[in-house]
Amino acid sequence: MDKIIIEDLKIFAHHGVFEHENINGQYFFLNAALYVETEKAGMRDDLSCSVDYGKVCELLGKVMTDNVFKLIETAAQTAAEAILREYSLVKAVDIEVRKPDAPIEMDFRSVSVKIHRGWHRAVIALGSNMGDSRGYIEKAVEQIVASPQIRNVRCSELIVTKPYGYTAQDDFLNGAVYCETMLSPHGLLEFMQSVENAADRKREIHWGPRTLDLDLIFYDQEIIADADLIVPHPDMHNRTFVLEPVVQLVPYYRHPILGMTVTQLLERLKKK
Ligand code: ATP
Ligand code: CA
Ligand code: CA
Repeated sequence: MDKIIIEDLKIFAHHGVFEHENINGQYFFLNAALYVETEKAGMRDDLSCSVDYGKVCELLGKVMTDNVFKLIETAAQTAAEAILREYSLVKAVDIEVRKPDAPIEMDFRSVSVKIHRGWHRAVIALGSNMGDSRGYIEKAVEQIVASPQIRNVRCSELIVTKPYGYTAQDDFLNGAVYCETMLSPHGLLEFMQSVENAADRKREIHWGPRTLDLDLIFYDQEIIADADLIVPHPDMHNRTFVLEPVVQLVPYYRHPILGMTVTQLLERLKKK
């Protein structure tokens, strides 16, 4: 993808772990690469189709001077988030925060942190079968919408379904959410768990009754198999209560391992 590049933007700011850094300040240098499709702007010679790098520099200056962070990691993270939120044409961004006068008692040219952040598509399944199920799910969706790292949230209709696995329990209410997020898969999982915890989720029986269950179904076309996270969700293709709401939201989303769209997966499951 095309990039707009800003190099060595010089900003006096007060970030650092030491108090003297917060008091005296020092120069920081920022490099940024904005991933933007520039074809339209390039053909029309029209800035309104692109991103104004002057404005981006002002935004970076503001992030760096309005805040006092301990870490340049946080400076870089905050700068990346600010750009992604402010400019919808920016699909992703590289940010490097360099600190050539960092307090190190040795000879060195510079230290820096360089990060890459961008918008990713995610599909989350929601379920509840304890207490005010509709209330728990609606509150969860509100929290997802309110997250500053998530945008363009769309929610399916909620459907009543029979319990799966452990069947001696109340019916479930199920739904799904499609969104875009700048969180990593693990960052998103952690956020989802905080939403579950806010709904007094306690873990008793596996597949047993719960106030709120959020499962990460898809994250872009990524395939993840870690100890604490498997994506796509390993059983989603066997679950009508997941596939139906997901088909409603993103009928052409393709399973990166099975190679079929969610619509095809649902048709196949219904035939079984
Ligand atoms: P199932 O995943 O079969 O629907 P469950 O939702 O009842 O079962 P939980 O007890 O909610 O399972 O989750 C157990 C663990 O599963 C979580 O702590 C989490 O680390 C892990 N996990 C792995 N992959 C995912 C995923 N894609 N989405 C959510 N949690 C996942
Ligand atoms: Ca689940
Ligand atoms: Ca779960």
